[in-house]
Amino acid sequence: MLSSLTIPSTLDTLHPGDVVKWAAEQFGAQNLVVTASFQDATLVHVAATAVPGIEIVLLDTQYLFAETQWFADQLTERYDLNLRIVRPLPDVQPDNQWQTDVDGCCNRRKVEPLSRAIDGKRAWISGVRRADSPTRANSAVAAYDLGRGLVKVNPLVMMTDADVELYAQLHELPTHPLVDKGYASIGCWPCTRPVAPGEDARSGRWAGDTKTECGLHL
Ligand code: SF4
Repeated sequence: MLSSLTIPSTLDTLHPGDVVKWAAEQFGAQNLVVTASFQDATLVHVAATAVPGIEIVLLDTQYLFAETQWFADQLTERYDLNLRIVRPLPDVQPDNQWQTDVDGCCNRRKVEPLSRAIDGKRAWISGVRRADSPTRANSAVAAYDLGRGLVKVNPLVMMTDADVELYAQLHELPTHPLVDKGYASIGCWPCTRPVAPGEDARSGRWAGDTKTECGLHL
C-alpha cells in the first residue's frame, strides 16, 4: 500500500546506489523497473551494481538513433543488464507525426509504452537529475507518483554534471558515441540536435519548440 510507506527525509543524502538498494528493500527487487534513455551509462551502472538483475527498460520509440541502440547492446553485454525493450502498440507505425504534433507523438511512443512498462510494479526508477533543467530543479529523490499509482525514485537526482563525470571516470564507463559529436542530451533523432559548448544540454531537444519534456516526467 502506498499510503503505508514513509519516505525517509534523509534519502537524498545517500549514495545513488544506496537509494536503489533502499527501493529494493522497500518494494522488492522484482517490483522495481528502471527506465533508461541510454544517453549515458550512469543510471544503468548505478542500478545494476546495487541490485544485480534489476529490470531495465528502454522505450524504443521507433526513432532512436542507431548509436543509442548499439550503446544499449554494448552496456547490456558489459554489465549483464536485464534489459527489456518496450515498443509502441502495434497500430503505431513510423509516420510524420513528429513534424506536426510532438505531444501526440510522444504520447503514443513514450507515455503509453511507459504505462505498460510500469504496470504491476511498485516503484519506477528514473535518471532524472535536478541539474538537467529548470523544470527538474525541484525533483525529489523519491515521491509518490499518484497519477501512475506507484513511487517514483530518482537516485541520481542530487548529482551535478561534475558528479556524473567523476562517477564515469571512477568506474571507467563508456560514453555514447554521439557525445563526442556535440549531443549533450540524446533522445529521438528527429527531435535532438547537437549543442554548442556552454549551451544548455537540453536545448538540443525539441529545438525551436516550447516543449521541454516528453511527458514521462511531468
Ligand atoms: S521525441 Fe520526437 S520523435 Fe520521439 S516520440 Fe517525441 S515527438 Fe516523437
